[in-house]
Amino acid sequence: MAQTCGYAGRILKVDLSSRTSETVSSGPYQRFIGGRGFAARLYWEEVPPETGALSERNRLVFAVGPLAGVPVIGGSRWGIYGKSPYRTPETFNYGNLGGRWGAELKFAGYDALVVHGRSDRPTCLVIRDDAVDFADASGLWGRGAPQTREALKEDHGSDVRVVAIGPAGENRVSTASLLADNDASGSAGLGSVMGSKNLKAVVVRGTRRKTSVAQPERLKHLSDYLRSFNRGAFTAWGTDFVQTGPKVKRDPCFGCSAKCIRIKYTADDGTSGKRA
Ligand code: SF4
Repeated sequence: MAQTCGYAGRILKVDLSSRTSETVSSGPYQRFIGGRGFAARLYWEEVPPETGALSERNRLVFAVGPLAGVPVIGGSRWGIYGKSPYRTPETFNYGNLGGRWGAELKFAGYDALVVHGRSDRPTCLVIRDDAVDFADASGLWGRGAPQTREALKEDHGSDVRVVAIGPAGENRVSTASLLADNDASGSAGLGSVMGSKNLKAVVVRGTRRKTSVAQPERLKHLSDYLRSFNRGAFTAWGTDFVQTGPKVKRDPCFGCSAKCIRIKYTADDGTSGKRA
């Protein structure tokens, strides 16, 4: 495994048609630096130009950068990439998500997940470190993304991270989004690509819970310096107007303590969700 600081060293490739998976080294991709670079290169290598967005030959790439899993501001944001039906003509597109799913993919030992093919039935991918299972998701088909996420947490444990689609993705609506933990949403119509593959959700949990850093002291110094802008009256994000209380709490992405506008609101009936 080509593991260098910041990277897990592996890319997980899944073929939903044959229900098989393999891992390849992420070493050759690390010169493209981050998740977006990984995904663009993988797409360039694996998706012929004439491939349709909803074709089983299209790839859906879930990717993180070298700071995913490192407790610094913004480091654990992640992305989903692939040819999307959102625009005419169809083109490579991406959605950027926060929350904790991306860091969890890194903790499971992967810098990226590449999905291709099409399952013959609704499927949920369940990734626990090196184990990859193709679980039947027929009972979840038709449910909304938040309900799917919570149902999968009941089945697989509250510590798993989930990204899922709802009925819009299942029905290949060209603007369909994805929803992950912490209500992180992914746009660019890539929910429809997930639906075209009969992929209802991806559940992930990893036990490698530290991302290696080449110069931890220097990174901490830089991170503390950046955070210093968010103390006192002045905030770099300009979000001091956000009021918190018993029903409204800040809900930052993994490792990020920025005074971010994203908050979690709990309603009187106990349901909760993120607002931005
Ligand atoms: S918590 Fe806010 S500032 Fe931090 S990465 Fe998430 S969206 Fe960005």
